[in-house]
Amino acid sequence: MHNKIFADANSNYEKARYVICGAPFDATSSFRPGSKLAPDAMRDASYNFETYSSFFDFDLDEIDIHDAGDLEVAETVDETLSMLSIHANKFVQDGKIPIMLGGEHSLSYPFVEACKNKYPGLGFVVLDAHMDLREEFHGEKNSHACISRHVLDLTNKYVSIGIRSGTRDEYDYVRENNIRMFSSEDVFSLGIEKVISQFRDYIKGPVYLSIDMDAIDPAYAPALGTPEPYGLTPRDVRAVISCLAPYIVGFDLVEIAPAYDSGGTAVLGAKLVRDFIAANAKASK
Ligand code: MN
Ligand code: MN
Repeated sequence: MHNKIFADANSNYEKARYVICGAPFDATSSFRPGSKLAPDAMRDASYNFETYSSFFDFDLDEIDIHDAGDLEVAETVDETLSMLSIHANKFVQDGKIPIMLGGEHSLSYPFVEACKNKYPGLGFVVLDAHMDLREEFHGEKNSHACISRHVLDLTNKYVSIGIRSGTRDEYDYVRENNIRMFSSEDVFSLGIEKVISQFRDYIKGPVYLSIDMDAIDPAYAPALGTPEPYGLTPRDVRAVISCLAPYIVGFDLVEIAPAYDSGGTAVLGAKLVRDFIAANAKASK
């Protein structure tokens, strides 16, 4: 079965508070491409779930969600980013909360920038196995491996969680710039609630949440562009979503490469998107 819209995204654009959009682009993927197929894989998977979330005690029937479909992308990443930027700014300026389904991680940039344009004090929280702090990768400035470096040019109010991979230079950069980074080992040894308590006050205010699916352990999420063992659990990610939900003004979920499992990673991705909507909508009721 192929569904063109995300489940329960039954609203038109005008009424909607949440605008889901796909960004089917993976041209800078360095290891296993295929994340351009993830938006539709998550849309298909979204029909697995009840509209009612027992965990958040909230029914997605009660709110207006719009699926804008897949946004147009180009062959090059630079052109794709400028095309996405037009949509991202429109969504945010119209008062919507954008929910971008990637695609690769570089695509977050225009959405973060659009939120920063509207909310100057914007904070940024990213869940990722990787630092993504290179200035360029394989000669490409806008590679998926550089997204956090570029976001830091937009806002210093930055927190990363789940990190367990980077170059020695990237680890030095984090130390030298006092970047708030919580490794997956921090989460494992302290517990996610303790980790959250260490940045909750710092990040208060409008925040953009970017979930690179490879933050999660490949045992739970094997269909990834760059899988990295010793990762977070789905419950860790839900706890972050739940805690930040009241402040989130933009959200994305990127880097699922659906070809590498039998659908389970897209199911988890779709669930996290639905959990974000339920948590945010409940908090703003
Ligand atoms: Mn990653
Ligand atoms: Mn990433």
